[in-house]
Amino acid sequence: MPENADHMATGKAAKTAADSAKARREKRKRKRVKTCHCCGTDAMFCWQCRCGFAICQDCMYDNQWGMTCNGITWYCPDCGDSNGYGNQ
Ligand SMILES: [Zn+2]
Ligand SMILES: [Zn+2]
Repeated sequence: MPENADHMATGKAAKTAADSAKARREKRKRKRVKTCHCCGTDAMFCWQCRCGFAICQDCMYDNQWGMTCNGITWYCPDCGDSNGYGNQ
């Protein structure tokens, strides 16, 4: 009986180790892409403020009416700083 219990415990531990390894890999991958602060999606491209706020293209287009008044600059909802749409 104790032998069987040991086997089950080992199997559980192995699964947990695999899960944490997977989580570590995902965490590393997340560093390459930017995470949208609006919808939480990892996007290849995000508009980014110098304060660290990032917003993906989808959210930017959805919120464009509230974040820009001229289409040239957008205002960060976090710090209120203005950022340019073009390549800075
Ligand atoms: Zn988004
Ligand atoms: Zn900002």
